Amino acid sequence: MLDLAALKDLLEQPQKIVITTHHKPDGDAMGSSLGLYNYLIQQGHHAKVITPTDYPDFLSWMPGNEDVIIYTEQPEKSAALIADAKLIFCLDFNALGRINEMGMLVGESRAFKIMIDHHLEPEDFDDYRHWNINACATAQLIYDFIVNELHQPELINKDVATCLYTGIMTDSASFRLPNTTSAVHRIVANLIDAGAVNWRIHELVYNSASENRLRFLGHCLANCLEVLPEYNTAIIAVSKDDLEKFDVDTGDTEGIVNYALSMASIRLAAFIVERKDKVKLSLRSKGEFPANEICKKYFGGGGHRNAAGGYSDGNLEQVIQQFKLILPEYKKLLIQ
Ligand code: 5GP
Ligand code: MN
Repeated sequence: MLDLAALKDLLEQPQKIVITTHHKPDGDAMGSSLGLYNYLIQQGHHAKVITPTDYPDFLSWMPGNEDVIIYTEQPEKSAALIADAKLIFCLDFNALGRINEMGMLVGESRAFKIMIDHHLEPEDFDDYRHWNINACATAQLIYDFIVNELHQPELINKDVATCLYTGIMTDSASFRLPNTTSAVHRIVANLIDAGAVNWRIHELVYNSASENRLRFLGHCLANCLEVLPEYNTAIIAVSKDDLEKFDVDTGDTEGIVNYALSMASIRLAAFIVERKDKVKLSLRSKGEFPANEICKKYFGGGGHRNAAGGYSDGNLEQVIQQFKLILPEYKKLLIQ
């Protein structure tokens, strides 16, 4: 175990540091990782961000992106860095299974492991933890860690601020989810004062789609949407063939589930997509409905109350059926 004083002592000398985050990184995963990276390099640390898999183009512009190592592209180099690190920061996940094969390497490494995260039910693999499920984003916790634990607000420079803004913006669904408190808005204001150009970040993340992505979205809404009014639930199910036909890239499916949730009566929306070897589910819900409970109980996944995900080994049709059969159990919550 490591207490804050010992962690601060370690960070006073340049250290070999690995920062990692969950597979298929989203805006918060990349924003919190690169935010911390841009903070650490100012103090002369040898820091590297290693992601378990690739991530979408609309997240590939953040400061420090050119130094990110993708594990699947450079497994040996990644393994050597993990084995050699003094500190490993584990951001936006709390179970080693979320980083695929890297989980074993991180678990075996003698490095001190620092978990900074806002997901439920953390596994016990860390030496120091900055964990709060009420945080709207891990990027919010990185801000809190730098400002309130390490007491270095002056090191929130433009690069750090830009990355943390991106993490908070994406994980709070553009400042819309209930956990976007006044405290979050104050942090965001400070990030803008520190140099984050808010309108430009929105442009880069949300107005950077390809024509393919828009046509694919049109296809999803016109041909793949099923509304179940008796359960206030909507499903968008996409086959492997659809993905091929529209040449869908990493990240092109991101956010499509929110269109299903945008209907007034809908309380639960599911985006079900047939990937190479398994079917992936993304659930979004409104209010108190626990989307993460369904993902955990039935689809080996988890997440937050209003945004959760999981997987199934069944085929697309079977997973759609399985999902529909679960709904009666939640009918009371869905129709209230
Ligand atoms: P998405 O639907 O965007 O993939 O994920 C939404 C939320 O659910 C994210 O916070 C993500 O961390 C979580 N999540 C998605 N897939 C999984 C999974 O397989 N396991 C767990 N534990 N969480 C997941
Ligand atoms: Mn997050």
